[in-house]
Amino acid sequence: MRAGAVAVPPRRVLADAVYEQLTALIMDHAIEPDARLNIEALARDLAVSPTPVREALARLESDGLVTKEPLRGYRTTAVLTPDELAQVFEFRTLVEPWAAAGAARRRREEDIAALRAELASAPVTTGSDYAHYAALAQHDQRFHTLLLRIAGNDVALGAFERTRAHLHQFRYAFSSSMSAAAISEHGGIVEAVAAGDTRAARSAMTAHLKAAHARITSAASADS
Ligand SMILES: [Zn+2]
Repeated sequence: MRAGAVAVPPRRVLADAVYEQLTALIMDHAIEPDARLNIEALARDLAVSPTPVREALARLESDGLVTKEPLRGYRTTAVLTPDELAQVFEFRTLVEPWAAAGAARRRREEDIAALRAELASAPVTTGSDYAHYAALAQHDQRFHTLLLRIAGNDVALGAFERTRAHLHQFRYAFSSSMSAAAISEHGGIVEAVAAGDTRAARSAMTAHLKAAHARITSAASADS
């Protein structure tokens, strides 16, 4: 296992590595949703001591991927129901088109440069495991967070971040065909923001969220 390849990694690095490994196992459903977790067994499987596993589980709890039950320990959370997914998109559709319009109104040169750089770094994914969709999810999350930041409302930004929308959406369903469409829609949003066109930014974001919700829903029905 990879832990053995590194000579006694610093504590922080080890804790991060265990967190990343457990995230991947949960996102890939190698650890089933709504399943009991045994800290000792996980530590054995990852060839580490229980301490970094406990630390990772505490972080995963704040991500909403595990819950802690008194006296019973940790278990993975269930995947969102279709209704919960719809609620995430309902919230996003309230906040993000408004934020895109705000970003178009407030954008400075460096904001446009940052948006273009984020877009240029967007990965075109080909596989369907966590490693592939994490790349798209992380780009998507950075892109949407950046727009909220440019819009300049920290309350809206904090509320958006607390939903962990990207983690939960992509855990719900993913298909590698999502990335090209999403990235092209992001391009349209960037152009509207760069042009300072608040109306176009608002409608490009609304259309993007509607299309993203439809893509995830259809990927889920293709899975089952
Ligand atoms: Zn997006």
